[in-house]
Amino acid sequence: MKLILDFQPCKECHELMNELSSTKFVFADDLTKADESAKFLRHLTYNHAEIVKAVLGEVKEKKRSPEFDLYR
Ligand SMILES: [Zn+2]
Repeated sequence: MKLILDFQPCKECHELMNELSSTKFVFADDLTKADESAKFLRHLTYNHAEIVKAVLGEVKEKKRSPEFDLYR
């Protein structure tokens, strides 16, 4: 699922995103990557409720699409 997030990143977001796109991180092992991604997601969950709402809205939207009707 691809989501386009429209929000104002705060200072911490920028720091986390910088970290996630740094060369050091690109060559990090999977565990470190998962850890860093989780940290960012946790930050979003606690500090940017609008994103969580947007994601949940998107999921609801998907459930209403005809594809989901096939599984009923
Ligand atoms: Zn933030």
